[in-house]
Amino acid sequence: MPRKGTSKLQQKETITLRLTMPPKFSPQEWMKTLNNIREMRKLEKAPVDSMGCDQCQDSDQPAEIQRYQVLLSLMLSSQTKDQVTHAAMTKLRAHGCTIENILSTNDTQLGELIYPVSFWKTKVRHIKATTSVLADKYKGDIPQSVDELCSLPGVGPKMAHLCMNIAWGIVTGIGVDTHVHRISNRLGWVNSKQPEDTRKQLEDWLPKDLWDEVNHLLVGFGQTICRPVNPRCAECLNKDTCPAAFKEVKKSPTKKSPAKKNEEVIKSEPKVLKLEEPQTSKYFSKEEPEHEDENQKRISKLKKTIKKESQNIETEASGGRVTRSRASKK
Ligand code: SF4
Repeated sequence: MPRKGTSKLQQKETITLRLTMPPKFSPQEWMKTLNNIREMRKLEKAPVDSMGCDQCQDSDQPAEIQRYQVLLSLMLSSQTKDQVTHAAMTKLRAHGCTIENILSTNDTQLGELIYPVSFWKTKVRHIKATTSVLADKYKGDIPQSVDELCSLPGVGPKMAHLCMNIAWGIVTGIGVDTHVHRISNRLGWVNSKQPEDTRKQLEDWLPKDLWDEVNHLLVGFGQTICRPVNPRCAECLNKDTCPAAFKEVKKSPTKKSPAKKNEEVIKSEPKVLKLEEPQTSKYFSKEEPEHEDENQKRISKLKKTIKKESQNIETEASGGRVTRSRASKK
């Protein structure tokens, strides 16, 4: 409806603009797909439900310490399973997870506390540097904007958006981790190579009131059903519409987990066996008859010797020359 007070020319321009603008992209039946994921998430608990970064802070501590703990758990969680992050945060909290305590903890001890999170040595450095900045620049609290959070050592956009949401209760963007990135691409919701592109494409069409929920939904869905390797497509409520259903989904070679490497080694074993098969058959088809020939020759020779000896025995038995025959055998 053209607004009152606009000229006919303006109204015409507005209508023309609307007609020439391409319709905004939104994936087909995305709401139905999302509802299916909600249903599946209700049926099976995922590690993120009890050990996610929103479950790692000590609720008895003052708000600024809790926010600091949220930030630390997000820093630890990068390329690390929720179970491992949660265990490291439990140890840190028992040690005393405050800015003052972490600054007075030496790197070796901090490393021991967070081990075995991925890249724990680098994370020790980042935690120390970030904690120092928080003490000096933010009076012992964490900053309240994505840009400022991203300026901290070891903090990227994914962590910053999740931190804004969990620590400050402000939704600034979708937290896109490896699960959200992978599943969004599998479902055809985005077409992207990098998580940051996935975030931008998702935010382009997904209503903002779902940005908070979608991270938690997809992370848990990725931990249980739509797994990186061997997704459980047969049990998935979206199998009839998902473009990636029952297709082999390869992981990015830059993000191989030890489990994936093991799987590749196992997969490569039949190839090794196949390569050995011709050699084995060659051995038996070519080498074995040679052994057979040799054996045959030996058997024939032995038979001839036995026959000759028998003849000698018979002859000697009749002529009294048995002893000489036995001696010749020796
Ligand atoms: S059908 Fe398979 S690939 Fe598609 S969403 Fe379900 S589990 Fe994932």
